[in-house]
Amino acid sequence: MEGPVISISRFSQAPIPTHNGNLTVVVYREEGRRTEEREHVAIVAGELDALRSAEPVLARVHSECWTGETLGSLKCDCREQLNSSLAAIEAAGRGVVVYLRQEGRGIGLGNKIKAYALQNEGADTVEANEQLGFAADLRSYEIAAAILRDLGIASVALMTNNPDKCAGLEKAGIQVASRVPHWGGPNEHNRDYLAVKKTKLGHHA
Ligand SMILES: [Zn+2]
Repeated sequence: MEGPVISISRFSQAPIPTHNGNLTVVVYREEGRRTEEREHVAIVAGELDALRSAEPVLARVHSECWTGETLGSLKCDCREQLNSSLAAIEAAGRGVVVYLRQEGRGIGLGNKIKAYALQNEGADTVEANEQLGFAADLRSYEIAAAILRDLGIASVALMTNNPDKCAGLEKAGIQVASRVPHWGGPNEHNRDYLAVKKTKLGHHA
């Protein structure tokens, strides 16, 4: 799945009033891919210039989840995680959520729904992806790091329970000064999914 070196460029930006206050949306376009051009987003609370300082910036790297965020699927906690991270940066008055357009941890919507079908036959989230020939998590943090760098951010306080995310960002050149524990909402449908994230993917409880 390793493609050519990915580069991104800032395409447009505008403030948007939201339920979590006024947030500035900065859109990046991914270049150097043979496949369809993709866009990623930095959602910023506070002044853009305030991100450029030595102080670590409160940040989350979030992967798109159409089923959770748009459909309101109860199979995962992505919508709650996105909302709580936007509320957190707004409350802090300074922060960023990097929103990566990579559905289903990078496997795409069609394959994600295929994996859900396998899960209905008894596979867990990791086994289902493996049965489809994908590694458990294909996300690359290089795009996120490139976006953070473009915003002038060198160091982050990262909202996540996933230690791989901290390691991935560090490897891509962004200092993770601290990890801020971050939860979505458990329910009767995503309990197994959340448990597998802890036992198989090494997420913190
Ligand atoms: Zn989700």
